[in-house]
Amino acid sequence: DVSVGVLAVQGDVREHIRTIASLGARAVPVRRPGELAALDGLIIPGGESTAMDRLTRSFGLADPLRERIAAGLPVYGSCAGMIMLSDVIADPSLDRHGDPQRSLGGIDMVVRRNAFGRQRESFETDLAFAGLSGAGSVAGEAPVRAVFIRAPWVEKVGRGVQILAQVAAADTPPAGPVEGGPGAGSDRSPGAEPIGAGRPERVARIVAVRSGNLLATSFHPEITGERRVHELFIRMIRGEA
Ligand code: GLN
Repeated sequence: DVSVGVLAVQGDVREHIRTIASLGARAVPVRRPGELAALDGLIIPGGESTAMDRLTRSFGLADPLRERIAAGLPVYGSCAGMIMLSDVIADPSLDRHGDPQRSLGGIDMVVRRNAFGRQRESFETDLAFAGLSGAGSVAGEAPVRAVFIRAPWVEKVGRGVQILAQVAAADTPPAGPVEGGPGAGSDRSPGAEPIGAGRPERVARIVAVRSGNLLATSFHPEITGERRVHELFIRMIRGEA
């Protein structure tokens, strides 16, 4: 059966391992570059993207990961993992030398970190999620219970990126610069559209995407017992989705 690695330098590694194992696939914690070769797919967990960036670089994992991603390895990133998979971070945190955090990249999109702002630091909601049954449609599918914890949203996607889920959120950027990154909290999402006639202050924000073999969600299905997102990822690994 398939071997699914879980990047285990930081974050909610155990929850992903448990979810993958419960679906009958092999779940392998990954800390060393040499462990990448045996994998059929990889999960980058939720946690803190600045710490993950720092640790993957110091463990010598960042460049080997970029190479595997470029070579087509299926990768699923949740929350901080979504940030790691994005080509552009709108508001990267800066280290003490003023150098911005880096992502691994792979998905042609711009993400904003901690995007839902202080009022909604964390929240739970039910989401329509496209393609979970493999039919490519949301119709008739039970919604996904999604937990957002200081979550990013996707501000912009390139042509090859499929939008799988959106959530209604206040049309306000986070209050003030999140961590002083360039442009933090300043630019609005150009593609955001108002939801509902009387509520122009709420817009649709993209919270799940797929681009080829790469899948990313702003939220954490691994902590609610929701297994369909991981199931979709395993079908992607098998070439069935
Ligand atoms: N805010 C975190 C970051 O920037 C992500 C939070 C999460 O993964 N729950 O990495």
